Parts: sequence; structure tokens; C-alpha cells
Amino acid sequence: MSLPSRASYRDIPLYSPSKVKCGVDLSDNTNLFGMPPAAERVLRETVTTQVSRYPVGYAPDLKQAVARYTGVDPSWVTTGCGSDDVIDSTVRAFLEPGELFAFPDPTFVMMPYLSKVNGVRGAAVPLKPDFDIDVDGLLATGAKLIYVCSPNNPTGTPASRAALERLVDHAPGIVLLDEAYAEFARESHLDLASRPNVLVARTMSKAFGLAGMRVGYAVGPPTLVAEVEKARGPYKVAGLSERMAAAALSEDVPWMKARAEEALAVRARLVAELETLGLKTLPSEANFVMVPLPGAPAVAERMRQRDVNVRAFQGLKGIGDALRIGCAPWTQIEAALGALRETLR
Ligand code: PMP
Repeated sequence: MSLPSRASYRDIPLYSPSKVKCGVDLSDNTNLFGMPPAAERVLRETVTTQVSRYPVGYAPDLKQAVARYTGVDPSWVTTGCGSDDVIDSTVRAFLEPGELFAFPDPTFVMMPYLSKVNGVRGAAVPLKPDFDIDVDGLLATGAKLIYVCSPNNPTGTPASRAALERLVDHAPGIVLLDEAYAEFARESHLDLASRPNVLVARTMSKAFGLAGMRVGYAVGPPTLVAEVEKARGPYKVAGLSERMAAAALSEDVPWMKARAEEALAVRARLVAELETLGLKTLPSEANFVMVPLPGAPAVAERMRQRDVNVRAFQGLKGIGDALRIGCAPWTQIEAALGALRETLR
């Protein structure tokens, strides 16, 4: 007997970036500069009674901590199992199956995937030649939900303030602004969450160094937050993760800012070193750089044979093949540059 399955799921591949074990892994833009100290204290002090009970539904303590960090009321915050979960819930909350979901191209690779699993139609709108978002193109789709990522993954480039404001002013529905890398950027646009149609998603996985704990959040009007929470359900963040994230947001902001500064200093050195190899990078405001390079997937494969994992992209719209290299303590970057030099030789 063949088991039932959803026809629309048949062609969906599982998300599988190259996760070969390498001594140096710069493939996922996480914080490789250590662990936030207050979060580590919570981890050590967690007792069995806290493990055997459910967390409180919808994570009120974590909402409080996010609210203080972002300067909003807790009713303006929703949380999730990583910002992946927040974005996924937002798609489900605002779109019926079959409706349009617009996003730039290239952007965070999960968007086409989330479109498929939620049964909505993805509309990918190429970035402009200067890597700003194409506001008119995004609006022309008529989509009731538009996703924009700034600084954008995988390019590292920001959307301009003027473009974001025009998008928000004219969008026929909701704008979901993904600021996963905001802590590394020159400018945040979190204030746009005060608009009636905007949600701003953030994560604890990047600057705050808690990727393994899976915590993300979004800020926006309570009416939008309530819809996202219907789609998401309760208890999506583990109790330990909630407490660690709340501690990090309350006590570890100076730690986070210092590590983010280190990452940016490393980025400047990395860009300069890549230039000596004749490689130009895209102008990044995140903790990674994108390096257009024909044959990037094969280059990355040969780098993995030298124990260094970086992310390769093939045929990106307007860019072509490219490597994305995350910033880490300099010894790891040196190893990556060494592997790259040998590979290109
Ligand atoms: N948004 C962007 C732009 C990302 O790059 C990532 C992680 N790769 C996420 C969201 C998801 O982060 P998480 O689910 O770990 O919060």
C-alpha cells in the first residue's frame, strides 16, 4: 500500500546546504567569536524542574526582553523557533494558498521553499543593478505579502531607506522586513515597524551567537502580531532557549556589540586580502562578504577538501556564481584565504 502524500510536496527538496564537517566552517554567518556570558550562565544554572515543565505559552518573559531591547511595548513582539519560524508563520498568517508572495532575487534561500510548503506562489523580483530593491517591480506583483531582507542574504547589501519607505507607503498589504543582520549594519529600519502594515523580523542566531538555541522574533503592530501567533501556535521556543535569549538581550548587549565590531574589522581585512587575489566583493553591511567568482561551487568543493567550508552559489540573478564567506576570528579567515589561494592557483 502506498502511503498518502501531498502532491504539491513531491518536488520539495529538504534544505541541505553543504554541511560536510570541516575544521573551519564559515558557511552560515553565525557568531564564531564565542558565547554571550549571561546566556551561558543561564545554561549552567538551569535545573531539572525547569526542564520537566512546559514553558509559558507565547514566551512572555522573552517578549519583555525583546521589547526592552527594541524599545517597543511587549504587545508588539512575537517570537519563534528561529526567525525561520517567524517568517514561515507570517506567510501562513497573511496568505491563503495560491496567493502571491513577493521577494527580491537573490535573497534568503528559504523564500522559495516557504512559498512551496505554504502553497503560495512565489514572485521573485530581481534586485536592481546597484543591489537596491526594485520597489516598482515588487509592487507590480500586487502581492499581499512582500518580504525584503536588509542587509540582504546572500549579497550582504542593504536596501536603501528611500526604497523601503516607498515600498511600505505603497504596498497593498504587509511588508515583512528581515533584519537578521541588523546588528552589523550602519542603519536599522526597526522604526518602520510603527507603520500599520510592517513586521520586522530579527534573530538571536547571528550577532547574539545563539543559533543552536533557535530563537527569533518579530516586531510590529499588535493586530499583525496576533495573526502571526495564530499561525504559529504556542510553545514553539524551548524554555531553556527562551531564558538564554532573554538573558542575552537583557545583559549581553555590550558583549554582542563588541563582537559585532570585531566581525566588521575582520570583514575589512578580508575584503582587502581578497582584493590582493584580484577578487572584488559586493559592498557588505553584514558579517559576511559575497565574492562573485565563476565556478564558485567547484572552488568551494576544493576548499572543503582543504578543511574549510564556505557557501557557494550558482548562477545568481545579476551576479552569477559566487562564494559567501562569513567573518570569524582571524586565524579561521587566514585558513580560508590559504585554502582559497591554493584552490585558485
Ligand atoms: N533570515 C536571514 C536573512 C538569514 O540569513 C537567516 C539564517 N540563515 C534567517 C533569517 C534564519 O535565522 P534563524 O532561523 O536562525 O533565526
